[in-house]
Amino acid sequence: MANPKAAESGAALRMLPSTDDLLTSMLARELLPEIGQKRLAALARTAIESIRKELANEISNSAGREKGHSKESLTADALRRLDELWKSQRATRLRKVINATGVVVHTNLGRAPLSENAISAVRDVAGYCTLEYDLRSGKRGKRGAHVEGLLSEVTGAEAALVVNNCAAAAFLVLAAFAKGGEVVLSRGELVEIGGDFRIPDVLTQSGATLREVGTTNRTKLADYKKAIGENTRLLMRVHPSNYRIVGFTEKPSRPELADLAHDNGIILYEDAGSGAMVDLANLGFDDEPVISAAIADGADIVTFSGDKLLGGSQAGLIVGRRDLIEQIRKHPLYRALRVDKLIYAVLEATLESYLREDAGENIPVLRMLGATRQEIDDRARGFAGRLRDALGKERDVSIETVDGESVVGGGSAPAEGRPTMLLALRHSAISADAIERKLRMAETPVIARIENDAVLVDLRTVHVDEEDVLLDAVKSALVG
Ligand SMILES: *Cc1c(COP(=O)(O)O)cnc(C)c1O
Repeated sequence: MANPKAAESGAALRMLPSTDDLLTSMLARELLPEIGQKRLAALARTAIESIRKELANEISNSAGREKGHSKESLTADALRRLDELWKSQRATRLRKVINATGVVVHTNLGRAPLSENAISAVRDVAGYCTLEYDLRSGKRGKRGAHVEGLLSEVTGAEAALVVNNCAAAAFLVLAAFAKGGEVVLSRGELVEIGGDFRIPDVLTQSGATLREVGTTNRTKLADYKKAIGENTRLLMRVHPSNYRIVGFTEKPSRPELADLAHDNGIILYEDAGSGAMVDLANLGFDDEPVISAAIADGADIVTFSGDKLLGGSQAGLIVGRRDLIEQIRKHPLYRALRVDKLIYAVLEATLESYLREDAGENIPVLRMLGATRQEIDDRARGFAGRLRDALGKERDVSIETVDGESVVGGGSAPAEGRPTMLLALRHSAISADAIERKLRMAETPVIARIENDAVLVDLRTVHVDEEDVLLDAVKSALVG
């Protein structure tokens, strides 16, 4: 430093606390059990270092004029920074949130919430379990056999297999049957599903060649027929999921495609994406493939996700012809894409619910989608009443119930959203952005959306048991 006063002003730097100073503080003693000695010391050093840099800048910019630093003020500053550093690290942890968005299958919020049965099944098998052990023989058992049986039972397929997610399932199917050959696919189904799942890219990566047929809006059976040649390995059908082609459209029916494939000795593979175990037309899903129907119509292999409308965990489910499933099981990639015991536990509990025919009440995704506007209206009015009571004489707050729509999300689009009753929250002195942020930063974060300068809360996706915590968070956000 060329500045002659720099040495003098370096006094502040000499007053900086040491790492040990910070580690003996009250704050450090509180944080220690949670963070551990080594990480805590590293955070303390980072905090001190950030002040050191600022002081050095301050000194060179101010020609050495001191700003009244003291050892106490610098230590307090360092501790504040240490606390901030830890809080911001912690904020990126996986945390439970309250989903007040009304988006039922919210990919950013972990898609399907699990059923009580699924949660307790996970607890049960979290230690040692019979993953690959047969109690009757006392010998090695077949991994996933029970879930595969349940999947066959629910969908009517001969056999089933579980992998990591639907993208993996599609990739594996294509790699197993179409590598080095051609896959015929309609131009109307060359879609991107979100989260970087693009059908043409998956096809290329699997080693198959895409043979696109038809047009974006209209593809005829004859288009598929013309495209079938010596190298064709399979006909593929993809559910466009979060996207619709409406108006002047045409596509062959599934049985027509199945017949065409089988007449030519090739496979009909359908990527159903979300897929439904039971017909959800009464919930507005007139267009969501029911997996058992796809099998009954002659699809040889169908893949779908475990954590969309099925209501389980992330998984890719493959169902279909036994000989084909066995071929996939022997593919080296299957070993790389298989799932662990926790996933099997969730899927077992979830599928059992469908077989007992209580999925509508016990699988949260289905229960939430099934809630009527009237049911949500009752809850919203009750909640608004409790909130008004809790806020007492707070005059700047407006709490209204307004008609709205809940979205399904997760790559499935019903004809329309589900009619719902929203709570619209406003404060004359606090912006909607600030309220939304406060909710998000609450002890149990609440994720809500903003429309027309109001924060909207959709109770469809809020569990009844979460209402008390939600009430506290909303109250704190509205009282400033
Ligand atoms: C959602 C979806 C996928 C991807 O499923 P993941 O389980 O998220 O990997 C693949 N195909 C279709 C048609 C989908 O809708």
